[in-house]
Amino acid sequence: MDKKHKKSYHNLSRKNIVEIIELLKSTYPDASCSLDFHSPFELGIAVMLSAQCTDERVNKTTPSIFEKYNTPQDFIDMDIETLENLIHPCGFYKTKAKNIKAYSKKIMEEYNGDLPMNMDELITLPGIGRKSANVIMLEAFNNPIGIAIDTHAKRISNRLGLSNNSDPSKIEQDLLQIIPNKYYKDVNHLLVWHGRNICTARNPKCNQCPVAKYCNYLNN
Ligand code: SF4
Repeated sequence: MDKKHKKSYHNLSRKNIVEIIELLKSTYPDASCSLDFHSPFELGIAVMLSAQCTDERVNKTTPSIFEKYNTPQDFIDMDIETLENLIHPCGFYKTKAKNIKAYSKKIMEEYNGDLPMNMDELITLPGIGRKSANVIMLEAFNNPIGIAIDTHAKRISNRLGLSNNSDPSKIEQDLLQIIPNKYYKDVNHLLVWHGRNICTARNPKCNQCPVAKYCNYLNN
């Protein structure tokens, strides 16, 4: 977080928050999850692969894998070198392969092959942190109970003054306190889309931003 963000936290009213969300919804009417998957299990793997990698790259890598391997037992049976080679394009392939193997083993041994449908158990799965568990709850189980704080959500929350924290779990708690529940699903998608398209890490396009008038980044 830069100095500008640290000292500029301010309180937006609930009405302001809803206006921001509605403006972003109008700007990105098609905002949705951009990872491809066919089951909660596959989504868990796609989310793991997306760490330090673009969703586009993940979506180019996973179809040929999931065509052949799509159950926990498939990944348990696969030797790790084969898995490393398959996921190599997504980077950090050694750690990711190890996590995918451990994730598959735990799902098979403790959950009979199906992902648990709650946050508390999801975050105990190897390779699945709170951000990934939030994505799974929303996209696989259609039950958005939190907000996934990725690099975009973190940056925009700080810039807009929705949170002055840098720790993702604290940012999430700040957002959950000010955003009405009915918008959790939208906000999960909108922050990512706004971060990719306008509120980019470098040189944000503030002159095109639909929520500029609320923004802490500009007003301090
Ligand atoms: S005004 Fe600029 S910094 Fe603020 S949310 Fe919009 S693009 Fe991001």
